[in-house]
Amino acid sequence: MAQYTPMIQQYLAIKREYSDAFLFFRLGDFYELFFEDAIKASRELEITLTGREGGGEERIPMCGVPHHSAEAYIAQLLQKGYKVAICEQVEDPKEAKGVVRREVTRVITPGTMMEGKWLSEKENNYIAAIVATGQSGSIAACDLSTGEMHVTSLSGSLDAVVDEALQYRPKELVLSGVVPSILPAVNAPVNLLAQEQVDNGAAERQYGPAALELAAEQQLAVSALLTYIGTTQKRSLAHLRALRAYEARQFLQLDPFSRRNLELTETIRDKAKHGSLLWLLDRTETAMGGRLLRRWLERPLYTHSEIEYRLNAVEQLKADMLLRSDLRTLLDQVYDLERLIGRTAYGNANARDLVQLRHSLDAIPNVKAALHASGSAILSAIAEEMDECVDIKDLLERALVDDPPISVRDGGMLKTGYDDYLDKLHIASREGKHWIAQLEQSEREATGIRSLKVGFNKVFGYYLEVSRANLASVPLDRYERKQTLTNAERYITPELKEKEALILEAEEKMIELEYQLFTEIRTEVAKHVTRIQALAERVATIDVLQSFATVSDERGFTRPHIVTTGECVITDGRHPVVEAVLNSEKYVANDAHLDQQGRQILLITGPNMAGKSTYMRQIALMFVIAQVGCFVPASYAKLTLVDQIFTRIGAADDLVGGHSTFMVEMLETKNALQKATANSLILLDEIGRGTSTYDGMALAQAVIEYIHEEIGAKTLFSTHYHELTRLEEMLSRVVNVNARCEERGGKLLFLHRIEQGRADKSYGIHVAELAALPDKVIARARQILHELENEKPTAPATEQISFDSLWMAPQRVAERGLEQVLAAQSMPIATEQHPSKEQMVPATM
Ligand code: ADP
Repeated sequence: MAQYTPMIQQYLAIKREYSDAFLFFRLGDFYELFFEDAIKASRELEITLTGREGGGEERIPMCGVPHHSAEAYIAQLLQKGYKVAICEQVEDPKEAKGVVRREVTRVITPGTMMEGKWLSEKENNYIAAIVATGQSGSIAACDLSTGEMHVTSLSGSLDAVVDEALQYRPKELVLSGVVPSILPAVNAPVNLLAQEQVDNGAAERQYGPAALELAAEQQLAVSALLTYIGTTQKRSLAHLRALRAYEARQFLQLDPFSRRNLELTETIRDKAKHGSLLWLLDRTETAMGGRLLRRWLERPLYTHSEIEYRLNAVEQLKADMLLRSDLRTLLDQVYDLERLIGRTAYGNANARDLVQLRHSLDAIPNVKAALHASGSAILSAIAEEMDECVDIKDLLERALVDDPPISVRDGGMLKTGYDDYLDKLHIASREGKHWIAQLEQSEREATGIRSLKVGFNKVFGYYLEVSRANLASVPLDRYERKQTLTNAERYITPELKEKEALILEAEEKMIELEYQLFTEIRTEVAKHVTRIQALAERVATIDVLQSFATVSDERGFTRPHIVTTGECVITDGRHPVVEAVLNSEKYVANDAHLDQQGRQILLITGPNMAGKSTYMRQIALMFVIAQVGCFVPASYAKLTLVDQIFTRIGAADDLVGGHSTFMVEMLETKNALQKATANSLILLDEIGRGTSTYDGMALAQAVIEYIHEEIGAKTLFSTHYHELTRLEEMLSRVVNVNARCEERGGKLLFLHRIEQGRADKSYGIHVAELAALPDKVIARARQILHELENEKPTAPATEQISFDSLWMAPQRVAERGLEQVLAAQSMPIATEQHPSKEQMVPATM
């Protein structure tokens, strides 16, 4: 160490405290990285690695980025799950004795980003903490950019605790206490915090008495999160608003499999929003509304009254198209209040942010007026709760010009009339400039030099310039020569210098004063953070409700009748996303009827491609859509709320976890059987297909019996085992339905219609034919089938032979061609979903 130069010693001392982050070390106009950091960063950011003498024997590896373009590089590192510690010069280099003092002013981590450009507008950016003990645990989740903090507890299993934390799709996790075993599967950097590192009083200091009402473990989770945030952010967390404690039971529980299978917020295939339920329902106009919609979809309700409340509002809005279109226009003028006020409280909002805040507030009275004018009590009540924040708006209107610069250090932000002294300085500066402008004219007259000019440059300030030809006329008694050019001389006069000093002083003071006044305004606005956040929430709510109403109107959704009889009756139900993609004429609507008496379990048969899994998904989505408070895609729906939805559908298997398809199928089935209640909905798609016929069939039947006898959950079970259809006769609450197909001219026609009764045959070979398997294979298959049917063999001769792989193929063949489907099936999913362990290392240490 001693051999290094003082600056490198300083670097190493700071780096020791931030070993888990890239240290961006400010050196003049650059942030430099040294040693290991430099080597790694040059690789990750594709920037040149150089070296620097540092007093040691070898050159020190170094790379750097200009400070003005650092953000883009930081964003890249954050996206890869790394942390970045920003180390600034904290004294003026001119005044420094020895090495300039430097300090880390902030650590930016994936879960604690604040700046707009790093955040996705319509998505929250959560960081979650888990404090677990044995089989239970508490979770705290915070979005620093909007100021939300949620907290809950779960018991039963650590998996459930982690599942709940993952509901937030956290960009980063903080862990204290027992480390859950499924954690390695979590796709986010994890920070371990030993119990003694947690600042136990943090929750109470932040939230006061509200924190004391929480259970001890919940307090600890909040404190752990605040401890971590505090050590990285190093500044006020004043905008973290009231705590929201909730019980997971208030919501419809969906495990991560089901959320993925039902494509609630992203599609399975390319993880895109486009094609998901969120995509279909999102007609929000504001960023806050977009985020709230996503939150609602990720957490449908299980509380009757709240659902009815939303449905009532949607009904009113759906009925009034004019109101809706007015609202949409008005909401479009509202910027991201939550994040604007977040930045304001954080002290990094600029004048433009505050002007956006003002414009947003301008729109509020009109939003309220529109809601009141609707005559609807429920909409009026929401309007009533909107605080127009007139005082804040007035302040901003009085203070800020309409189009201020980005920088808060260059002046030009404040209006005339806001501050007397500032106005005086403006006048002084303006008068001085005016005097100088006049000077040109008066000096021309006084000297008779018609080409005399007044100019300004940074080195000499204001000057009078006279061309060489006119030098003889210069009044040297008044003029003092300052600079000689080839063709001209430049002069100053004592009077000119005096005015110049006045102007420059005034301008310097103006800039300083503007900055000071601006920060005062920002601090003043920040005092009202809770009011603005409350307003933002109401605006977001109205936005989501109008979005529901708009979609419901455009797509012909109906209000579901929520009952408590255990029934589910759907007439003309549709899968809204498939319908939207297919366009509605082609979509075949289907009925559904489930109850607790005779129709608890629907056993669905029919060939591949007939529409079985679409039907199952459409019923599950019907509940999700109803339970977020939106109208549903059906002509009639009577629904009993479900507490949980379990799904085992499709081929999107977790090969990453090292499980075979069959194993995943069994794990997901186990999950459902373990947790489902009589109020749950279970979807099982072709359970047992991953093993031999008899094995599979035996398992399938056992599962159905168990659900029938032990659980009582509403269940949709699709299968290829025709033998299972006889269960209808054996179990009182099992009913056969089938996805109807017709054979016409030797070809198979899918009607996509779900009917009572079982399918007459399996049509597997037809589907294979559709997938254009070689004629020879098809012909041979027909022959074998014929023989089998005649022989009725006792051994599992068919074993579903190669059909296992074909089964999933045809669904996609139509769109992608057989070759691609087959290729895709042998492709590991791992690479596209999870960053490599290496990438995660720096953030997890
Ligand atoms: P299965 O599960 O029986 O193999 P899918 O539910 O995957 O069949 O449906 C196969 C394809 O048929 C879907 O991709 C969809 O395009 C189409 N489809 C399904 N249900 C309908 C319907 N009700 N109306 C129109 N097309 C449908």
